[in-house]
Amino acid sequence: MHRRKFIFALGSIPTVSLISKTEDKLNKINKYIRRNKMAKFELPQLPYSYDALEPYIDKMTMEIHHTKHHNAYVTNLNKALEGTEHEGKSLEEMFSMISKLPAGVRNNGGGHWNHSLFWTLMKQNGGGKPNGKVADAINSAFGSFDEFKSKFNNAAATRFGSGWAWLVVQNNKLVITSTPNQDNPLMDVAEVKGTPVLGIDVWEHAYYLKYQNRRPEYVDNWWNVVNWDKVNELFSKA
Ligand code: MN
Repeated sequence: MHRRKFIFALGSIPTVSLISKTEDKLNKINKYIRRNKMAKFELPQLPYSYDALEPYIDKMTMEIHHTKHHNAYVTNLNKALEGTEHEGKSLEEMFSMISKLPAGVRNNGGGHWNHSLFWTLMKQNGGGKPNGKVADAINSAFGSFDEFKSKFNNAAATRFGSGWAWLVVQNNKLVITSTPNQDNPLMDVAEVKGTPVLGIDVWEHAYYLKYQNRRPEYVDNWWNVVNWDKVNELFSKA
């Protein structure tokens, strides 16, 4: 019995073509596993409740902004990257060559990155004056905190249409700038490049329910929720 079984086994040694077919199958399975393990971008949770920034930013605006607008950027970014060579790259890596990538990656990648930062730049009972090293840097770059605020307000007010106003670190100096749509100063297309340490969303979806067309009033009130500890932390790392 044992002998016959052995002979049967010998007769089943796979031929070369069978081995290569098996390898093909294994490669396909591995590719499938890799693709499904590829980290997709995810909507981050807010570090506070939707009503935490009341009365300056209302609960409904925060909820729609996060669960609808930001969520859509994440979904559409993952769609835009699916099956491309850029899947698995960091957003920062893609921003450095964004002029060569499809508009869907630029708009939704920027949207995801900008909003993820924006949420952390605000907090309940925020506001007041900057602290730490960034406070000194603001004074030396702009003369005073009030002077800085007025220049930043102006950048936010004069950004035509939708976009963002930013405070960035560029060659160890603080600079105020603004970008259209969901662009940001990390992108190779940005007029002024640098590492953002503060930014405000001036898309109408960020303020329209409460402020309608009064963007300057939204920006004025937004200073009451700025998380200066976070700004100082980003400045220290920039
Ligand atoms: Mn927004």
